[in-house]
Amino acid sequence: LEVIRGVEPRVADAIGQEIADQRESLKLIASENYASPAVLLAMGNWLSDKYAEGTIGRRFYAGCRNVDTVESLAVEHARAIFGASHAYVQPHSGIDANLVAFWAVLSQRVESPALQRAQVRHVNDLSEQDWATLRRELGDQRMLGMSLDAGGHLTHGFRPNISGKMFDQRSYGTDPATGLLDYEALRKTAREFRPLIIVAGYSAYPRLVNFRIMREIADEVGATLMVDMAHFAGLVAGKVLTGDFDPVPHAQIVTTTTHKSLRGPRGGMVLCDAELAEHVDRGCPMVLGGPLPHVMAAKAVALAEARQIDFHAYAQRIVDNAKALAEGLLRRGARLVTGGTDNHLVLLDVSGYGLTGRQAESALLDSGVVTNRNAIPQDPNGAWYTSGIRIGTPALTTRGLGAAEMDEIADLIDTVLQRTEPATAASGKPSKAQHLLDEAVSTQVARRAADL
Ligand code: PLP
Repeated sequence: LEVIRGVEPRVADAIGQEIADQRESLKLIASENYASPAVLLAMGNWLSDKYAEGTIGRRFYAGCRNVDTVESLAVEHARAIFGASHAYVQPHSGIDANLVAFWAVLSQRVESPALQRAQVRHVNDLSEQDWATLRRELGDQRMLGMSLDAGGHLTHGFRPNISGKMFDQRSYGTDPATGLLDYEALRKTAREFRPLIIVAGYSAYPRLVNFRIMREIADEVGATLMVDMAHFAGLVAGKVLTGDFDPVPHAQIVTTTTHKSLRGPRGGMVLCDAELAEHVDRGCPMVLGGPLPHVMAAKAVALAEARQIDFHAYAQRIVDNAKALAEGLLRRGARLVTGGTDNHLVLLDVSGYGLTGRQAESALLDSGVVTNRNAIPQDPNGAWYTSGIRIGTPALTTRGLGAAEMDEIADLIDTVLQRTEPATAASGKPSKAQHLLDEAVSTQVARRAADL
């Protein structure tokens, strides 16, 4: 930090403050974690300075032997840990990984001379006519993904996202009575809609998905099954999700982020079967420019960590902790979407406390509990205010917290929300003074987390 301070002290201060914030608060955002020092160091070094467009051994730049080494290692670990026939570790983020996957499936499945031309030429060299043909040839392809309010992600066909514009899109949701995925309703929609791609996976669904059934449905309607396992990749790597719940043997293509439950650097990755490999490897130049060699090095380190035996225990503890948290909340009378959890997250319906998700998020933050508001199925408050709070256990499990602390955290969350007065303003903005937190409980739990 002193080196940074010598150049721009405000950046050094922000980094220092971030470390303090992350130590002192209870990080319960389901998509966050604490990467190890080895991962962080692999990311902050001279590999960052290298350009390496292309694939391993076939680069458009000279001097890439060290990038080849780290990318090959990341691929080797990814294939081994997930049992995938092919891995592409260049995507800079989860969104990039999904874009690479969409284009790979389009280029594999759709006969489009314009797309082929687009893949071998720079986008600037495509004529207006090529673009027009491309739009016509690809424009009517269909995608079926999980709706945002049921727990899907923006990239699964949400209209304002590029995925909702690239494809003629339809969503599947959950059973309004149970909050659970309704496979028969999904099958019916797929039969009617006949999508090219079915996207499975989620950001805010607290249960398991049966990927064997999803593949059966995809096969029946001639769709490619794509699974976005960004949230639960750590549970797959840790062999907590196996059989029907492991997406890799069932889906033709699987995408993930590397920074959530997998506990690596910020980044994305695509796994696929042999038939899709050549299409996926065209991620650069189709969607990506130069890869981030320092991040690929950190992915290799994180994946090597995830192959170690104690990662299994870590992944199991994530789920045990989420269950303990859910039970603690239920025991105190809270309402959880689907009535509980089978994975790393709990979706708390805060309408029972007379609050919006935004109010609850803010009240908890003031108490050192960092969560995020999240829509619940058929949310009457929409995606901005919401009626839910998403709570995840990967980060605090990394800090070493267990079931007993989860019960204390459930008590803290319930106490804060019970004592938060619903805002009267139409904006729903809670005033800071609206909740009376039992500070002793808050600081006690936070301090314990900081000590670990
Ligand atoms: N896919 C899912 C299921 C996600 O939950 C997220 C992020 O929250 C992403 C993709 C996007 O990842 P990123 O933020 O790295 O682009």
